[in-house]
Amino acid sequence: MSSTLFIQHSHFDQHSVPPNHPESPLRNLAVETRLRQTGLWQDLNIQNAQSVNRELFKLVHKAGYIDQLYQISPAKGMILADPDTPLSFDTLKATEEAAGSGIQAIDLVTSGQYQNAFCAIRPPGHHAEPNKTMGFCFVNNVALAAQYALSKANINKVLIFDFDVHQGNGTIEIFKDRDDVMVISSFQHPYYPNSHWNIKSENIINIPIEAETASTQFRRLVEPKVIKAASMFKPDLILISAGFDAHTDDPMGELDLIEDDYYWLTKLTMSLAKDHSQGRIISMLEGGYNLEALANSAHEHVRALTGK
Ligand SMILES: [Zn+2]
Repeated sequence: MSSTLFIQHSHFDQHSVPPNHPESPLRNLAVETRLRQTGLWQDLNIQNAQSVNRELFKLVHKAGYIDQLYQISPAKGMILADPDTPLSFDTLKATEEAAGSGIQAIDLVTSGQYQNAFCAIRPPGHHAEPNKTMGFCFVNNVALAAQYALSKANINKVLIFDFDVHQGNGTIEIFKDRDDVMVISSFQHPYYPNSHWNIKSENIINIPIEAETASTQFRRLVEPKVIKAASMFKPDLILISAGFDAHTDDPMGELDLIEDDYYWLTKLTMSLAKDHSQGRIISMLEGGYNLEALANSAHEHVRALTGK
């Protein structure tokens, strides 16, 4: 039996967005379709995401922010929570499932039922700060999962590795100056969100990368920093903010990675998890906006997680 858990939304069409918005339900569908086409789907343990109560979001967000999100949520149609971030009548229901899937994965991986997990979720979360929506994100799914994981008796330190082309500013803002969480973020620089790149905090490892950097140079920049940071920190659990928008075909980033680089990134993370974290990894989908590139990259990520 495979020991990789795959958590999907129970409803792919939840969280509607304006026509042609890049963060669309077609993204999850593309990932699932590719996994089915190659047969890898058969090797995964598929579960539907379970909702969590909004009160749990307050572990990493200001209470007033969460309450206000629910107050402004429209009964029908759509408003803009910020210029980039459409909030539809069905968004918060999807958000409860996206965040809930991280909680579910933490329970199942830290108890040893599965070795690792991939949560194919939306909306994404890593730009959401304690007090604001940002960049298609409402609730910081990976940060919530990390904070929740620390309530487990066997988890005292969590490492979050964010390889989305955009820096995980929300995750960094939530965990800066903490000694029980380390955040490593590799990202195109200078680029959106352009906010926490020069932060001075021992537990925040930024890896800025120039536009048009391709596989070989990317790996040279990332590998030593990630290995050094993880070896010093010795996490009990590794979480991944898995954005696939550093792919060369992605319309929203200008790095030149290919599918194989996501296989490599995953294997690198798995070797660190094996050394320090009993192999425990939970990965949560962030960006990736070219459907073909997203599907292929996520496939290689999940393939690596299954040990193939
Ligand atoms: Zn991104």
